[in-house]
This record gives sequence, C-alpha cells and structure tokens, in this order.
Amino acid sequence: KADLERNDPDVFRAIGLELGRQRDQIELIASENIVSPAVMAAQGSVLTNKYAEGYPGRRYYGGCEFVDIVEELAIERAKELFGCGFANVQPNSGSQANQGAFMALIKPGDTILGLSLAAGGHLTHGAAPNQSGKWFHAVHYGVDRDSHQVDFDEVRKLAREHQPKMIIAGGSAYPRHLDFAKFREIADEVGAYLMVDMAHFAGLVAAGVHPSPIPHAHIVTTTTHKTLRGPRGGMILTNDEAIAKKVNSAIFPGMQGGPLMHVIAAKAVAFGEALTPAFKSYAAQVVENANVLADTLVGHGLDIVSGGTDTHLMLVDLRPKKLTGDIAERALENAHITCNKNGIPFDPEKPMVTSGVRLGSPAATTRGFGAAEFTKVGDLIAEVLDGLAANPEDNGAVEAKVRGEVKALCDAFPLYPDI
Ligand code: PLP
Repeated sequence: KADLERNDPDVFRAIGLELGRQRDQIELIASENIVSPAVMAAQGSVLTNKYAEGYPGRRYYGGCEFVDIVEELAIERAKELFGCGFANVQPNSGSQANQGAFMALIKPGDTILGLSLAAGGHLTHGAAPNQSGKWFHAVHYGVDRDSHQVDFDEVRKLAREHQPKMIIAGGSAYPRHLDFAKFREIADEVGAYLMVDMAHFAGLVAAGVHPSPIPHAHIVTTTTHKTLRGPRGGMILTNDEAIAKKVNSAIFPGMQGGPLMHVIAAKAVAFGEALTPAFKSYAAQVVENANVLADTLVGHGLDIVSGGTDTHLMLVDLRPKKLTGDIAERALENAHITCNKNGIPFDPEKPMVTSGVRLGSPAATTRGFGAAEFTKVGDLIAEVLDGLAANPEDNGAVEAKVRGEVKALCDAFPLYPDI
C-alpha cells in the first residue's frame, strides 16, 4: 500500500476514492459482490508474475510446481462445490467461458438458440453486436407476455424450426428458476447441446438454495464474481469427459495464452469459502433479502417483473410511478443507492432509457444486511422514486435526506474496516 502511494499517487488516490464509494453506497447491482480480504490477498500476490501455459502437470514453462498446487486446489474445490466431474478454471471472464464452450462444441455458422437480450439474456448468447451474434446464426426465445417466464412452447417451436446445434439457458436479468430438465428434453429432441450459463446464480447453486443445472446440461459456464463471491473471472464445468477434453483445448491453446494464476488462486480461496456452512447461510439470506426487497417495493406501489423473484435479483417495473429507468438510476445514485437501469420484457422504452431497474441483494447481504435492513432499503428506494415522481425537476432535498439515512446504514455495517 505504501509502495503504491509513493510510486503512483494518482492510481492510489483513485483506488482510495473507489473504496470510499463502496463504503458509503448501498450496492444493489445484481452482478456485483464484495470479496473477502483473503480473496484480494491471493489476487494481489506474486502469482501474477508466473507464466503457466497448459494445465497442471502439463505446462509449457518451467517453475510451475507451486502454481500447479493452486490450480489443482481451484479445480478440486470447484468439482466438490458443484458436484461435477470436470472443471476448467482458466477462463479470464464469463464471456471467455462462453466463447470457450462455443469453440469446444460448435462451429462458426452453426445455429444457437438463447434467451433474447430484451427478455433478460446476455450479450454473449448471440446478441447481434457480440461475436456470438456475428459468428453464429443466433435465434432467440423470449418470455411469456403474462407470466414473464420462459415460454417453453416457443423454445420447442424455435428448436424444431431452426435445429440449433446448441441451446443456451441462463441470463443476466431473469429472476426465476429455470426448468433445466425441460430445456434438456427439447435439446435432446433436436440433437442440440444444452449449455447453461449460471453466471448469475452460481453461488446459489453452490449453496444448494437453487436447483443445479449440472445433472441436466452438457456444459455449464459461469462467472466467479457474482453470487459466487470470488474474483472477476470465468469457469466451465461438465460431467462429460469427452466434452471436458474439448473445453481444455478450446481454452488453451484455442483462445487464451497464460492463465491468470493470481486470479486462479483467488478463485481457489473463494471456492474454499463457498464450501463452508457460513456461505450456505449467506446464500439463503441473499434469496430471503431479495424477496423482502421485492415485497417492500410492491407495498410501495411498484411492480416486479414476473411477480417476484426466486433468486438474488429482481426487475422493478417503474411504469406505475410513470418513471423511466435512466432517471430512476440517476436519482438513486444521488441518494447513494447503486443499481442499473434495465429493460423489462416488452419494454416500450429504448435501451438507453428503459422502464425498469434491476436490483440485487448479493453485495449488501455480504455486508451484513438482513431482512430489517432490506425492508429499510426498499422504503428508501420508494422515497426517492416517489419524490422523483412528484417533483421530477427538483428531487435534491429527498435525495440528500435519503443519502443521510444510507450513510447511517452503511456505517452500521462497515466495509473492509481493516484496510
Ligand atoms: N453470462 C452472464 C449470464 C452474465 O450475466 C455475464 C455478465 O454480466 C457474463 C456471462 C459475462 O461475464 P464477464 O462480464 O465476466 O465477461
């Protein structure tokens, strides 16, 4: 720390400001979390110096005996955590995990079928501006207009019509459990691989508070930094040895060079944490807190897409308050409640405006917030939004008052007190 301050005061200062922001704001971005000091220590270690192309025991560089220990630990813990036979812990991100799965199992020009971005899917599931949309023939299913849940009649119809090589389940703004068995049934019917991208809910699966895709999918991809509460990164899991071999070749030498060994060490530490009973309680609290928040917001007259949540996240439909996502996000940020604007299914607004915000409970739950605090957070969100609806030109006083209450909540649950 002292070295950084001396050698690069500009970066040091920016990091300090970000630490202050994280301490003083209630983080409700559903894809974010707060890692432990142990995870940060592993990531900030000498392992960043090491090249280790290849896999444990089969490296293209000397001096890999100790990083091999670290990668083996990450692999074994991942397998134990998710009850699967094979894990590749090298993908640098969730996007690269998905690219790796594609490279392992399908070819450019093949058809993929995934959840549309507008219904909560992810860019890497075939969205037009993404490599997956440019290199594959991407077809998308949506959600039912009334239930806002995956419309399996549509999935089956599109699968029969387009004969995809891969069906993708999972997304970034889908609040409900997915019926993995039904997806597999449709995939088998048309001879497609089933890939589940569990990036968002992986931590809930690890803790046993969410159904596992492992028994159903040919291949499962994930990030390690969302509900799983590890460092930023990706991972690919499977129970199929032949697929595992293809995945390993796809990640290295197919897509990546030297793995980020310091990040893999941090993944190992996070997986170790996720194997503890404390993490199980944490994940159960994440789901309870999300439900408390959703119920509180409904009590204040807001709508929740699909009527609620089974997971850590919810989509708030702001139309009952005649507000849009862009201005709601800004007003909440002024009040030090951080979230993101998000399209809702069949959104009449443009993507940069939107009719919704996405809220998630993982980060604030890590901080120690329970049901009482999440009820309070819901009340504060409603206060800001009601103020905005009543006086769109001047909500400053309401935002300042709520900012004060947010500060008191944050001070009651200090973040990283020892750094
Ligand atoms: N898959 C899903 C479902 C995601 O939500 C995300 C990130 O938001 C990703 C993949 C991509 O992860 P990354 O940002 O690490 O590339």
